[in-house]
Amino acid sequence: MSTAIYSHPDCRRHEMGDWHPECPARLQAIADQLINAHIDDLLEHREAPLAEEASIARNHTANAIALVRDHLPAAGDYYPIDGDTSLNAHSWNSARRAAGAAIAATDAVIDGEIDNAFCAVRPPGHHARPTEPMGFCLFNNVAIAVKHALDVRGLERVAVVDFDVHHGNGTEEALLDEPRALMVSFFQHPFYPYCEVLPETPNRVNVPVPAGSKGDTVRALVQEKWLPALHAFKPQMIFISAGFDAHREDDLGGMGLVEADYAWMTQQVMEVARQHAQGRIVSCLEGGYNLSALGRSVVAHVKALAEI
Ligand SMILES: [Zn+2]
Repeated sequence: MSTAIYSHPDCRRHEMGDWHPECPARLQAIADQLINAHIDDLLEHREAPLAEEASIARNHTANAIALVRDHLPAAGDYYPIDGDTSLNAHSWNSARRAAGAAIAATDAVIDGEIDNAFCAVRPPGHHARPTEPMGFCLFNNVAIAVKHALDVRGLERVAVVDFDVHHGNGTEEALLDEPRALMVSFFQHPFYPYCEVLPETPNRVNVPVPAGSKGDTVRALVQEKWLPALHAFKPQMIFISAGFDAHREDDLGGMGLVEADYAWMTQQVMEVARQHAQGRIVSCLEGGYNLSALGRSVVAHVKALAEI
């Protein structure tokens, strides 16, 4: 398998204060662990381009885009968006690199240049609503890439798999009226962002799980809920909202996953992709705030994607 890592130095320039867990050191931790695990050289490193505004606009309103583009503060200052989301002078470029990575990876996978890709980018995206940034997220990188795959590349069915500990409310909202997309997820509940749990449909299998849930619970629900829905939907491409904050060492979540669970989930998604989607997978970093656990979990995820 050829697996690409998409990233860009701009993704380390957006930051929201020294206290903030969604910090540039997350990407350094990932880069360090890929080297430490001796797999860095086996991956194809690609630079994330800047997403065009028109690409972002496939998922976000003009107001949501302008809120980021037009409010960049001076160097060293912050522009607050909500209690835990803010802009610095670099945020517009960082957010466009993050979305640009997801789009470029989608094109490269569809064009057969690579088998699959992991986008080591920030800010993350799955809480960003079509109408406004939210919860550490500015633009919804995965939803933007999904709409690119459907509306620009002409795919007819795509799936989103979200294994972040938090409910991917922004992605769910973006795909509410989109019959060409299936979203499957689990999320700790009740927990941030405290959204309503919408009923299961052929296009939505988002499963709440209680705090304290461990790998055995998650693996069972993947087999009982996700895999039948994915096989029935027959996606032509799969996107992963890869958050690693359900790890047992992550203080922002209250679940008990370990690296082996991320490897196992990735292998399950790989098998679905092999059967229905020519192996096409684009995975984008979402949460994961314990730097050591994040780096180790990404190694497990990427090793599974690259089959190394
Ligand atoms: Zn999260």
